[in-house]
Amino acid sequence: MKDDRSYEVIIVGGSYAGLSAAMALGRSLRNVLIIDSGLPCNRQTPHSHNFITHDGEKPLSIAKKAREEVLNYPSVKFQKGLAVSGMMTATGYEITTENGDVFQAKKLIFATGVEDIMPSIQGFSACWGISVIHCPYCHGYEFRKGKTAIMANGERALHVAGLVNNLSNDLTLLTSGKASFDVKQKAKLKLHGISIIEEEITKIQHKNGWVQQVQLKDGRELAFDAVYAAIPFRQHSLIPAMLGCELTDQGHIKTDNFQKTTVAGVFACRDNSSMMRSVANAVAAGNLAGAMVNKELVDEVF
Ligand SMILES: Cc1cc2nc3c(=O)[nH]c(=O)nc-3n(C[C@H](O)[C@H](O)[C@H](O)COP(=O)(O)OP(=O)(O)OC[C@H]3O[C@@H](n4cnc5c(N)ncnc54)[C@H](O)[C@@H]3O)c2cc1C
Repeated sequence: MKDDRSYEVIIVGGSYAGLSAAMALGRSLRNVLIIDSGLPCNRQTPHSHNFITHDGEKPLSIAKKAREEVLNYPSVKFQKGLAVSGMMTATGYEITTENGDVFQAKKLIFATGVEDIMPSIQGFSACWGISVIHCPYCHGYEFRKGKTAIMANGERALHVAGLVNNLSNDLTLLTSGKASFDVKQKAKLKLHGISIIEEEITKIQHKNGWVQQVQLKDGRELAFDAVYAAIPFRQHSLIPAMLGCELTDQGHIKTDNFQKTTVAGVFACRDNSSMMRSVANAVAAGNLAGAMVNKELVDEVF
């Protein structure tokens, strides 16, 4: 590659998945540019769990160490910024950043994650990732035995309740509307001592992100230590869709088992393309994407 605007691979998104892909590529002497806007989904979480060798570390410390390791490989470059558009060219792809910088590459990897869409409940977003949590594997242990609420309804609520039931024996389902459980499901919840409250939530009272009480529309105030919430998401970056990458019905970028999207030469890895959200999974998917992109580059000349 001739100039500093042309790379073999551009990785959009330089958090766990993107950095992991970059390491596999850097170790294969590939010229790589990582473009990252610095907004990983777990940025508000005080401690990240369930990733061996880094259990309990600050999310940003894990990413910082990963970046330092990856940038030890001289063919890998990191640029802070937001990629805003992408297009196909005669030799591959072109990515433009919000500053108007234009970079070319033969292959693209999107490790752009997703953006969680916060409900308009006062206090919710301030507690997100601190005491309002999405995943029992990531944070459930820290709230074990605590008074716990699950903001969900129907199958989703039952799924989370089953997992959390093993961690706390004081569980309440907050369905914010008519509970949609059949007789058998209601009996199962009753058997495990899980109560259901259908009243709408109006506010989460908290101290620096630590839940104190959940306020309901009828004026009740319920004390909890932790609240599980399953909330919707959208793709963090619209560029994959712009390039023609197909999405699944759930809104993930469609990939095959080798992280290939439906557009030739374009790969995607982790939260943007899978519902299994964890740092360990992100690192694994990035590692695979890096190796598969390297293989494509190898196959073109060997
Ligand atoms: C609140 C919360 C707490 C969590 N806690 C844990 C935990 O304790 N343990 C655990 O294992 N997992 C945890 N997770 C899950 C874990 O954080 C994710 O699975 C992981 O961060 C996914 O990595 P990723 O690289 O795919 O995406 P992210 O880490 O979300 O990174 C995406 C990156 O892409 C960048 N980006 C996006 N679009 C662009 C663009 N157009 N141009 C440039 N850059 C762009 C973003 O700025 C960001 O840096 C948590 C998730 C949440 C939401």
